[in-house]
Amino acid sequence: MSKKYVYLFSEGNANMRELLGGKGANLAEMTNIGLPVPQGFTITTEACTQYYEDGQKINDGIQAEIMEYITKLEGITGKQFGDLEPPLLASVRSGARASMPGMMDTILNLGLNEDVVDVLAKKSGNPRWAWDCYRRFIQMYSDVVMEVGKKYFEQLIDQMKEARGVTQDVELTADDLKELAGQFKAEYKSKIGQDFPTDPKEQLMGAIKAVFRSWDNPRANVYRRDNDIPYSWGTAVNVQSMAFGNMGDDCGTGVAFTRNPATGEKKLFGEFLTNAQGEDVVAGIRTPMPISEMSEKFPEAFAQFEKVCKILEDHYHDMQDMEFTVENGKLYMLQTRNGKRTPAAALKIACDLVDEGMIDEKQAVAMIDPRTLDTLLHPQFDGEVLKKTPVIGSALAASPGAACGKVVFSAEDAKTWAERGEKVVLVRLETSPEDIEGMKAAQGILTVRGGMTSHAAVVARGMGKCCVSGCGAIKMDEENKQFELSGKTFHEGDWLSIDGSTGKIYDGAIPTVDASIGGEFGRVMGWADQYRRLKVRTNADTPHDAAQARKFGAEGIGLCRTEHMFFDADRIPAIRRMICSDTVEQREAALAVLEPMQQSDFEGIYEAMEGLPVTIRFLDPPLHEFVPTEEADIELLAKDMGKSVAEIKAIIAGLHEFNPMMGHRGCRLAVTYPEIAAMQTRAVIKAALNVQAKHPEWTMVPEIMIPLVGEVKELAYVKKVVVETADAIIKEAGSNMKYLVGTMIEIPRAALTADEIAKQADFFSFGTNDLTQMTFGFSRDDAGKFLDAYYDKKIYENDPFAKLDQTGVGKLVDMACKMGRATNPELHLGVCGEHGGDPSSVEFFHRTGLDYVSCSPFRVPIARLAAAQAAIKDEK
Ligand code: ADP
Ligand code: MG
Ligand code: MG
Repeated sequence: MSKKYVYLFSEGNANMRELLGGKGANLAEMTNIGLPVPQGFTITTEACTQYYEDGQKINDGIQAEIMEYITKLEGITGKQFGDLEPPLLASVRSGARASMPGMMDTILNLGLNEDVVDVLAKKSGNPRWAWDCYRRFIQMYSDVVMEVGKKYFEQLIDQMKEARGVTQDVELTADDLKELAGQFKAEYKSKIGQDFPTDPKEQLMGAIKAVFRSWDNPRANVYRRDNDIPYSWGTAVNVQSMAFGNMGDDCGTGVAFTRNPATGEKKLFGEFLTNAQGEDVVAGIRTPMPISEMSEKFPEAFAQFEKVCKILEDHYHDMQDMEFTVENGKLYMLQTRNGKRTPAAALKIACDLVDEGMIDEKQAVAMIDPRTLDTLLHPQFDGEVLKKTPVIGSALAASPGAACGKVVFSAEDAKTWAERGEKVVLVRLETSPEDIEGMKAAQGILTVRGGMTSHAAVVARGMGKCCVSGCGAIKMDEENKQFELSGKTFHEGDWLSIDGSTGKIYDGAIPTVDASIGGEFGRVMGWADQYRRLKVRTNADTPHDAAQARKFGAEGIGLCRTEHMFFDADRIPAIRRMICSDTVEQREAALAVLEPMQQSDFEGIYEAMEGLPVTIRFLDPPLHEFVPTEEADIELLAKDMGKSVAEIKAIIAGLHEFNPMMGHRGCRLAVTYPEIAAMQTRAVIKAALNVQAKHPEWTMVPEIMIPLVGEVKELAYVKKVVVETADAIIKEAGSNMKYLVGTMIEIPRAALTADEIAKQADFFSFGTNDLTQMTFGFSRDDAGKFLDAYYDKKIYENDPFAKLDQTGVGKLVDMACKMGRATNPELHLGVCGEHGGDPSSVEFFHRTGLDYVSCSPFRVPIARLAAAQAAIKDEK
């Protein structure tokens, strides 16, 4: 039997999300549980994939199937497309598997043409409504299907309002709207060169194609990359008969959450707008009323809606985000989905649902997106300074967090300023999907218009980004890049602070303080820790970072880079002396100066980690990174070493490398200058002995990691230096302290010969940054230049430095683990690249059987949660 590409709502259910998309599956589910849903059908995501396979065409078979379902829908509704009475009007809505808010546009009132409108106007006795529908349809269709651009239509509306001396869309009369519809069509014709289509079936095919096409628009591609949504999924299309919220004052449209998406509070939260349709409520054109007021104006519909909310929460066991319309007092449900929420709300809701007996602890752990946690760990405004700083404005607390930065007025500016390292606050009249990248780059977003469910608010909450919205007090002058608030004019580049938890706006910069894990956060992390198998360590080079990571739950240090210690201003002369030495004696003398400094660094870190394992990596970068470049510094060094400036310059020139990343670095340094490895070993072991003596209750087992090994003999050579040095010191101290010597696996050859290398190593730590770089053969510092072209051409969907390439690099990791364990069953395995804090990569490391992941301190909670989720998923 050939594939089925179209499903009536009554034929689907919530489990068919892959095929029907989230929206379609939930419309089907709501239909099944008997909620009032305008009927329709869903064209599957496979039809979308097929459309692309067929060279962006809907093939004849699928077209015929769609036509068949139109007939079915006509039968169900008793209305016909293009018929004069009663005509079938439909919405065409996109819906991917995962919700992609604002990514793809919806077309409403499809099926209208001049003849149909005339009849509709007469029959309904409501010509204003009929013409309002028509002009909206032309506007949306032109924008979405033909890409004529909304701007022109909005200008025409503004001109009409001005001509009539009114400020609100709803004040325009039927005749005004009829005239506008005429102007819109003329605009369409002048841009497209053809008349606006009148045949509803032609309109429908055009609209369906547009939805498929929008799957590939740049905004959608960026959103997918940020949210781990594969391109191959495709989007479904929903064709649904219309419910009208714009027929008069006993009509309206609303959006609501069963719980507060900003705080998690268990209370209906949302907005409602009378005599309106579709996106009016979120577009910020008119200010909607809070949902609670709806109970006064529409008591029956509201009571019914409250019941629906309860049914949906009980059904989905999660907070719901719903869209609905009231037509002549009657409620219609248009959408439900698990609502997006702030990280704080996510934690509160998860805990509340557990306490309410709706879900168990495992489900609570599984329902939180680990990627959002880090915003909770980021700084809040310093309360003391905050109290003293005058508030210059206040608006909706749309998405919590503290943001402080320089004012910019466009998404592009936000991006370019942020790229050069400036912190910015993006101030906009309102935001649109085009602004996403700018919003991402900004510390926070402030908008003049828009409610709690406006685009800015929804997207910011999704990103975990601070947002204050709907500050009507701002007098905006976008053209001249300035605005006025509280009598002060702010220009581009002026400092501004906004608090997305309170909605307050402050003049100037307010310092921030660190957050901590407690309350619901701590509760969920506690549950997560029960389920995970992977240990989570941190990458930390200083006692401060180490202590920070401990607070976030790190169970050790997986990577402590020693070169950072060498860069210190008071140490750099010694390291330069070491580099410019001619003899081993000179070098050892210079190293002797460094040794106590390193030792005390290590002691600090051991103290901060309170006896937990600490992996210290020996010197890794090429030596030329340490030598002076300034003339004055060179002269100083020459004097210091009793050499001529020319001699020093010759040494520096001799260190020059064409490709330092693949040059004289890592264990190659220790092979040429074993005295460096000996010094670092002494510092590590002595520090551990001292700390052990101070804290007999801890069991110190220092871990020494040799970087950039590609050949087992390299490791064997350096290891011998380490072991001889360490054993002598330990013996002299009369101690029996154990220590480990391992290596980083970051060169493909090391992975390929892991069975050999494992014989010499107590542990492997996958340095997936370098391993990715060397496996792909492109530099992580330069890849940014061309990766965009690769995304555009769909060669790569993600940055392999952010998300592990499981197919290639992952294969090396998996292979090295298996081969290594085969020759050394005791081998301890971890990862210390950036990927250690990326949830999808963590899941891979769990499956591969590593013992731990190590990531930067702020990502430790993310890794803990991701590791728990991987383990929970594994059980199933
Ligand atoms: P998005 O995914 O961007 O939310 P939707 O497909 O949900 O887009 O459509 C946006 C809005 O259009 C809905 O919230 C609803 O107000 C309106 N809408 C969609 N379909 C219908 C319909 N059949 N009847 C009335 N309004 C509709
Ligand atoms: Mg919607
Ligand atoms: Mg490396």
